[in-house]
Amino acid sequence: MRKQIRRVVLHVLRNAGVFRLLRESEWRRHRLLILCYHGISLEDEHQWRPGLYMEPRVLEQRLEFLRAGDYNVLPLGEALQRLYANELPRRSVSITFDDGTYDFYKQAYPIVKKYGFPVTVYQTTYYSACRFPVFNLICSYLLWKRKGAVLDSGRELGLEPAMDLRTEAGRQAIVTELMNLSVTQGLSGLEKNEVARRLADLLGVDYAELVQKRILQLMGAQEIAELSRDGVDFQLHTHRHRMPNDEFLFQKEIEENRTCLRRMSQKDALHFCYPSGFYRQQFLPWLKAEGVISATTCDTGFATSRTNALLLPRFVDTSGRSELDFESWLTGAGDFLAIRRAARQKYIPPTD
Ligand SMILES: [Zn+2]
Repeated sequence: MRKQIRRVVLHVLRNAGVFRLLRESEWRRHRLLILCYHGISLEDEHQWRPGLYMEPRVLEQRLEFLRAGDYNVLPLGEALQRLYANELPRRSVSITFDDGTYDFYKQAYPIVKKYGFPVTVYQTTYYSACRFPVFNLICSYLLWKRKGAVLDSGRELGLEPAMDLRTEAGRQAIVTELMNLSVTQGLSGLEKNEVARRLADLLGVDYAELVQKRILQLMGAQEIAELSRDGVDFQLHTHRHRMPNDEFLFQKEIEENRTCLRRMSQKDALHFCYPSGFYRQQFLPWLKAEGVISATTCDTGFATSRTNALLLPRFVDTSGRSELDFESWLTGAGDFLAIRRAARQKYIPPTD
């Protein structure tokens, strides 16, 4: 109901010219909107996780909107520098992608490049060295491919016999069981890939084909190097997409991530994005000690010169966002009518 009222109000504001006024206002000029994207579908991933994946045509519509509205799309580093120096141009926006999946290379980047916009990729690196999919994600995707089924062959994977794939909760419970099992058995990445292959066989899905299409894989060293040479800005997202509560392990995540990125992109990474948008106050001094100069969350909002540079909000754009919602945030109207809620992603990702 609140959402419906919000939609009606936004329509009225747009039709009354308020969006346009805000977009050109001094108030908006002092604000930076950092857009956050995740995956752009190679096939049907947006139907599996609409909060994580988007169709290429929707991304193109969004970028067309930026172009038509004459938004100033700035490289992240420059945008932040100008934000804190109070020197932002009007209608400032930065574009970021989280995780660095292969579909960024194949689907997203050609579209971004067509518009000539600068882009930052927060790249997690553990799976960059592997030519197989991220374990928990591919398990979830495989089970979704057979949604509606009830099987009794769980034992073949060391699980409870009954596998109820009729609900998201049922499928997620199986993913959690598989992840727990891989931890207790101390499986390597390669061994986990073998478990995923067996799961696919059990479900009657062609695993080799998915691997060959590189669904739910990260970009590899060659792709990262190529895009870095082409001007894509690669930044930190931890090595294993996780943030340990232990300072030593936390810093190890940053250092391993940074070393891998330096090797692949030939550049030093100083900006960070919290995996899954999850953060704690104790992380801030740890990031500072690692020389990190900015960190983005998945909380919704504009960054201003008063925003803590290690807690920068963004606008997480997903398949579920309407064009009206997108436009309201670009102009600034969305900020006044925001339903304040941290847009945490459910992507709880790979362990090694
Ligand atoms: Zn992430």
